[in-house]
Amino acid sequence: MRHRETADCVVVGGGPAGAGAAENIARLAPKKNVILLEKRARPHGTCAGGVGFNWIEEMGMKLPASVIETPIKEVQVHGPTESASIHADDLGRPELGAVLDRWGFDEWLLCKAIAEGADVRRNNHFDDLKRENGKWLVKAHNADGEYEVLTDYVIDASGPTAVVAKRLGFKIDEEPQDVHVGLQWTVPLPEPIPIERLELWFKRDPTQEPNGNWACKTGYIWSFTSRHPYWDGGNPVKAGRYTRLGIGVDMEHNRMPGRSAKECLQQFQATHPEYAGPTVSENGGLIPTGVPLQTAFENIFVVGDAGRHVSALHGGGIWFGRVAGEEAGKTVARGGSAEDYERGWTSRIGWTLRMHYALKKVLYNLDNREIDIMIKEMGAFRVTSSDAQVEIPRLAMHVAKHPVLGGKFAVKTFLEMAKGAVA
Ligand SMILES: Cc1cc2nc3c(=O)[nH]c(=O)nc-3n(C[C@H](O)[C@H](O)[C@H](O)COP(=O)(O)OP(=O)(O)OC[C@H]3O[C@@H](n4cnc5c(N)ncnc54)[C@H](O)[C@@H]3O)c2cc1C
Repeated sequence: MRHRETADCVVVGGGPAGAGAAENIARLAPKKNVILLEKRARPHGTCAGGVGFNWIEEMGMKLPASVIETPIKEVQVHGPTESASIHADDLGRPELGAVLDRWGFDEWLLCKAIAEGADVRRNNHFDDLKRENGKWLVKAHNADGEYEVLTDYVIDASGPTAVVAKRLGFKIDEEPQDVHVGLQWTVPLPEPIPIERLELWFKRDPTQEPNGNWACKTGYIWSFTSRHPYWDGGNPVKAGRYTRLGIGVDMEHNRMPGRSAKECLQQFQATHPEYAGPTVSENGGLIPTGVPLQTAFENIFVVGDAGRHVSALHGGGIWFGRVAGEEAGKTVARGGSAEDYERGWTSRIGWTLRMHYALKKVLYNLDNREIDIMIKEMGAFRVTSSDAQVEIPRLAMHVAKHPVLGGKFAVKTFLEMAKGAVA
């Protein structure tokens, strides 16, 4: 006979979304009992760790210095021939954002949830759930064996695998074009590139020069600098100058002969030998780049990557997941409904997620020349804040004025695509 417990809420997954949900429930409703199940000893940490400071400010967080690997002062964006950059000085800010130590950051978030009173259980694996007397019976296991928790609410924060949502047959977008394969290699950062600079490369057509035959039609290559050579187990070895050279391409692209994420990254290194230093560590994972379709059913709320709360445009999901987690937590704390939760996250990030999805579709349709034009326009564009939620649509409107790109960025096309994203 399995051991049985009761709870007000079970959260599955201890990443930013799950920790945010658990912390909010425990803080806002201290009498409620929230159990967080995390299957690993520590959350997984597969990430480039890039965040904008406006996100952190919006979340009301004061990040401890220990979780910031590198403050970012400059972002450079490269097309096949053009480049543009944004510098923190242009905005009168000390930094634009940061590269986080994802292991440290996730650990810090979990500790915040524990400090508020959440029952965080590492090495505890969610297995299954079913309805019982109007509640949910969650089945889990750990090293001591199997157990059950009878609970009012379940929050699925299990990342791209969305274990609860899939078990219950939620509508989840898993089209190969809307799931990206992310891969990154930690390599020495070439001299004299400053560690405070983050770089992105876009190139669509592999046959076009310059820069040889590398290309990723449905994504981009990034360099997110790091002071730590590790990314495998969370144990810093020694500080230095490194970068996580990464790539995201959609699943369809990844299956094309010679065009997999790994091959594209190798082709990039062949034409950028300064980034081809010995690989110190590597990791990767799936990045959902669709839009949320169904994120709640009765008292089951799906948050973060599991709920597709990720920017389809750049693949960043730390902030979006955290916002969704907060909204789920607040809803549980006040005994709210599926509609309350969906209204909560939609009002904060719904439009942005749809807009990013529409922009992703536009970007994938640009050829090399159009990418260069877009980057040239970026160079001429005056950024007025570090808030990507504000600046990305402003930039799209600016680019839409260009005679070559106007059709693709036309407001009408764009709004129709954004609307279609939730159909
Ligand atoms: C290569 C790569 C680079 C990225 N770079 C960035 C970036 O620079 N900036 C950014 O904002 N985002 C980035 N992302 C995306 C970001 O990592 C995710 O959006 C973010 O981690 C989502 O948080 P989450 O809490 O929803 O899920 P996760 O962080 O995936 O956490 C889910 C947790 O659930 C646990 N879990 C899963 N199944 C079970 C189970 N059955 N029982 C118990 N626990 C379970 C997992 O162990 C995991 O710890 C990147 C992703 C990848 C793959």
